[in-house]
Amino acid sequence: MASIALALAVAGTLSLGSQAGGRGTASATPSPVVSVVGVGDDEAGYKGGLFDRRRRAAAARVPAVQRSAGYTFTSTLDGQSVRWDPCTPIRWTANTGAGPAGGLTALQAAVRDIAAASGTTWVYVGPSGATPRRSYLPTRAQAQYPPVLIGWTDGRASDLLAGQAPQVVGMTRNAWFGMRYSDGSTKAATRAAVVALDRTDTLPLRGPGSWEAVTRHELGHAFGLGHVEDPAQLMAAVLPRTTGELQAGDLAGLARLGRRAGCVSVP
Ligand SMILES: [Zn+2]
Repeated sequence: MASIALALAVAGTLSLGSQAGGRGTASATPSPVVSVVGVGDDEAGYKGGLFDRRRRAAAARVPAVQRSAGYTFTSTLDGQSVRWDPCTPIRWTANTGAGPAGGLTALQAAVRDIAAASGTTWVYVGPSGATPRRSYLPTRAQAQYPPVLIGWTDGRASDLLAGQAPQVVGMTRNAWFGMRYSDGSTKAATRAAVVALDRTDTLPLRGPGSWEAVTRHELGHAFGLGHVEDPAQLMAAVLPRTTGELQAGDLAGLARLGRRAGCVSVP
């Protein structure tokens, strides 16, 4: 849920879906004056039944009107949700070496669902030996970005999982980059994400409370969704006990961030 400004960034906050979508006009081209950069991250995928009080308190602070929207966004910039460019294929890679047998199929199923719900194309670029940790993400804009990394690791190897409550089975962080222009407008896009799955947890591959469900939840964060209070949504801070599939609010949020909302062009 937290969006932490790294440098010169406008801190992200949770935002209503209805605030998103209005794009700037394409009139005179203002000059870029400063780069903006930030991250959105969210610990996630709590095992059913073990509700973390801190997360509950955070969810309770979300205004009622946002709770009813069925989805929230992790990062906003000047009132706009920060999105991936849904018109550019999103490359992803997996480190399944420390995961369960068949782990890649669970990841693939989750990726397929996020892609379908958001109208985006995800391209698997092959396996990775990289450890999912914070340093995987670039800290400044660059010509090329690493593929989205999803992988199993643990709190010893990954600072994403280190120190987390034992209920946490996954952690996601994404990074966005953009420019602020001389006329005060901003353009930014999410460019990279990393998903750490805790290998020390034993979960089924699919179904409620599964690796597939956790990965859907984490990829929801990677794509820009925050937690919701409604416990029936997959983006609730605690995974639903009854389903491992994306629910109506999750799907609506992904649609709001995806292809239907238009392309995101950032120089
Ligand atoms: Zn989460």
